Amino acid sequence: MQKITINAGFTCPNRDGTKGRGGCSYCNNQSFNPAFASSSKSVTQQIEDGIRFFSRKYPQMRYLAYFQAYTNTHGSFEKIRSIYEEALAHPLVDGIIIGTRPDCMPDELLDYLSELNRQHFVLVEYGAESSHDSTLDLVNRCHHWSDTVDAVNRTAQVNIHVGLHFILGLPGETDEMILQTLKRAALLPIEIIKLHQLQIIKGTRMAKDYEEHLYPIRQFTVEEYIELCCKIIDIVPKRISIERFVSQSPDDLLISPRWGLKNYQFSALLNRRLCEIHQDLRQK
Ligand code: SF4
Repeated sequence: MQKITINAGFTCPNRDGTKGRGGCSYCNNQSFNPAFASSSKSVTQQIEDGIRFFSRKYPQMRYLAYFQAYTNTHGSFEKIRSIYEEALAHPLVDGIIIGTRPDCMPDELLDYLSELNRQHFVLVEYGAESSHDSTLDLVNRCHHWSDTVDAVNRTAQVNIHVGLHFILGLPGETDEMILQTLKRAALLPIEIIKLHQLQIIKGTRMAKDYEEHLYPIRQFTVEEYIELCCKIIDIVPKRISIERFVSQSPDDLLISPRWGLKNYQFSALLNRRLCEIHQDLRQK
């Protein structure tokens, strides 16, 4: 099963004034959109392009439409429904993954998703980013941790798969604060967690703040980040899958950190460190 990233032309309530303006200070949506995901193409066209890309390597592959860019539950109910159903009408698509904000899941939409979930795979990923409201305020998320707890509980109550996304190393956060966030997340009825290191991306407000040294922004070395990931693996219960540890923004957009590692190279380093820790424990 392969995810195909779709840009369905949604906007974001933190950009269009519904919740805020200017967006989260680290956000440049270009950094998480592959070339085939462009809102000028229809959902079906983007799925076809994605399948053409992936099926060369794996001809038997089936697909999940991944609505990733911006806030994919923000808009009129009819528009949202027609977009999801266009994706699910494709004969090779077995389900949808919806990336959104925790303050953007009305009950009406959740009821509809619960209906869809009877026949298709449906996963909702909420961008929580941190459990610390002071951090969320600093990066202009325009929602709080209580919104995340509420959205996750309501989504799980209607038996929809639910996951959370966190950014590690947001300004002002220590390792202890990050681990506290993961401990809080582990108490919620989630099935997946996605993590990545804070990246300073060109064109964002944070990039400007970083260049002007407005406040300290910690940039992990690879070794520090691996140690933090090992601690997180120790905390997160086995019923929750950690789907991702790092993100890799396009080279021409990334200011820092420039580790120069592909995701699979990072995974190999993390695995090696986990094996070392395991061996040390066995020798004790
Ligand atoms: S990170 Fe998400 S919520 Fe924040 S501005 Fe970007 S699209 Fe909007």
